[in-house]
Amino acid sequence: MHTSIKGLFAAGDIRIKASKQVVCAAGDGATAGIQALEYVNH
Ligand SMILES: Cc1cc2nc3c(=O)[nH]c(=O)nc-3n(C[C@H](O)[C@H](O)[C@H](O)COP(=O)(O)OP(=O)(O)OC[C@H]3O[C@@H](n4cnc5c(N)ncnc54)[C@H](O)[C@@H]3O)c2cc1C
Repeated sequence: MHTSIKGLFAAGDIRIKASKQVVCAAGDGATAGIQALEYVNH
């Protein structure tokens, strides 16, 4: 979910090769949120 910009994460339809389904966007959001938290904590 990381992008070329440090600390910026992408989720859902905006991602390259996104499957463009609601359930996938929601899962992406959860994963990106966890990664963002790890980024902030470290
Ligand atoms: C007609 C149609 C039918 C669909 N049917 C289905 C279906 O049956 N089943 C299914 O699983 N998926 C379906 N999809 C796909 C599903 O809607 C998307 O995969 C899902 O909504 C993607 O979620 P997202 O959060 O990535 O993006 P979005 O839901 O598009 O959310 C992006 C949000 O960002 C906001 N935004 C944009 N630019 C800015 C900005 N500059 N600043 C602030 N906010 C901004 C937008 O207003 C929007 O609220 C359908 C899509 C369409 C268009």
